[in-house]
Amino acid sequence: MGGTYVTHHFGYVLGELQRYKMDRDLIVSHQEGYENNYYTLNVEGAPARNVSHEEAGQITSSAWDLFVDIDGNSCRNICPLPHSQLDNIMVSRADVEAIDKISCKERIDQIKHLLTAEQLGTLSAVIMLVTGGKLENSSLWECIRTHALLIHDSANLADLWTTYKLREGQSAFARRIFDDAVDFGLEYAFKTPVTAIADEIDSTEGRVKVTTANNGIFRSHRVISTIPLNILKTVQFSPPLSPKRQEAINLGHINFMTKIHAVVEGSGLASWNGMCSPGYIAQGYGDGVTAQGSAHIVGFGGDERENFTPEHEPEKVIAAFQALHPMNVEKTVFHNWCTDPWANGGPAWWAPEYMSKYQDELQKRHGAILFASGDWAHGWRASIDGAIEQGALCAIEALRDLRLTDVSHDHQPKL
Ligand SMILES: Cc1cc2nc3c(=O)[nH]c(=O)nc-3n(C[C@H](O)[C@H](O)[C@H](O)COP(=O)(O)OP(=O)(O)OC[C@H]3O[C@@H](n4cnc5c(N)ncnc54)[C@H](O)[C@@H]3O)c2cc1C
Repeated sequence: MGGTYVTHHFGYVLGELQRYKMDRDLIVSHQEGYENNYYTLNVEGAPARNVSHEEAGQITSSAWDLFVDIDGNSCRNICPLPHSQLDNIMVSRADVEAIDKISCKERIDQIKHLLTAEQLGTLSAVIMLVTGGKLENSSLWECIRTHALLIHDSANLADLWTTYKLREGQSAFARRIFDDAVDFGLEYAFKTPVTAIADEIDSTEGRVKVTTANNGIFRSHRVISTIPLNILKTVQFSPPLSPKRQEAINLGHINFMTKIHAVVEGSGLASWNGMCSPGYIAQGYGDGVTAQGSAHIVGFGGDERENFTPEHEPEKVIAAFQALHPMNVEKTVFHNWCTDPWANGGPAWWAPEYMSKYQDELQKRHGAILFASGDWAHGWRASIDGAIEQGALCAIEALRDLRLTDVSHDHQPKL
């Protein structure tokens, strides 16, 4: 439904996949060889047409390369080490912060005279799909970081980002990790929303008190919160969070994208990709054939919350798919992350200057409370890899703490 694609370039994910012997058990998303083996390009400012996948890739990557090439060296100078974007040995923080101020809209305005109308329409659509926001509130830096993570070459985009899936699915992967943790002593409660987290330094029975919506109380020596950025404002912290972290939380991230799966009649569209922008579902692509011989199409949309709530407006969902390409939709499957009260948005994408101002603060601990979320990871922010990165860093910090404190003698951590 949500996080899907994997690559061996996600270091933390690869480690876990190897642990559970899932690293070779992959399937490929897009397949050639079916009837509609082309890309339908229908973007603002240019007539709609079908082109080959190669030509569509060339139009997109030529515009994207120009867009991110802020240093004349495909971001190698400004972002040589994408897992340490701020304060690395190669680039001064001030240089990065200067670029971090720029919005995608401002960057497009700088380069649009170099683009054809079709390239401009395609680039604008791609950016809004990637960021899940508007051009004005999406940070150019996030695109630069992404390009650097793609090893500074847009030719790697498909291979690293949208090609490989786990045959058994992400849920099976999460389940393996969960079962392993239970084996090592994890106790758990589901459907138990946390409403407050208090660090009560003087308490002897575990200094952190976690209160849940049904007035349950949990106590522990350390808490690692994995509550997402756009949800943290609903949780009460005591002592209060720093004004800077609270400001970051109040602003949140700007990704409010849509992802909808459609099963459509016939297998032909399994080899098709397309873009229709503007559109509630601005991009669709073939993602295999079901056992019944129907094509599976994955549709992505940008921030369309004002006029589109897919779970309440099925007719708009069907119309949006049909605007991409004629198709007979048999069924749709999706989850709306934007109306999900425990997500309030898609994978985190930041506004201009957000990283410079808040990344360090979001990663800091707050007394005995540690914060792990993919939303503020060092490298692959807004991905499963980033979530494991932050979880691993917080876990080791908590374990070290416990070994150093008196309480640890009675409560040896089991992991
Ligand atoms: C549509 C979509 C497509 C994506 N595609 C990819 C992809 O292809 N590859 C990839 O690597 N990543 C992808 N991602 C991103 C990836 O899924 C996330 O970055 C990752 O899941 C973040 O993990 P996390 O543990 O930080 O947060 P989450 O996975 O969001 O986990 C946080 C948990 O906290 C719970 N929670 C929230 N509030 C409370 C509360 N108050 N009390 C108790 N529990 C609470 C939530 O229910 C949730 O279970 C995608 C995301 C979306 C939405």
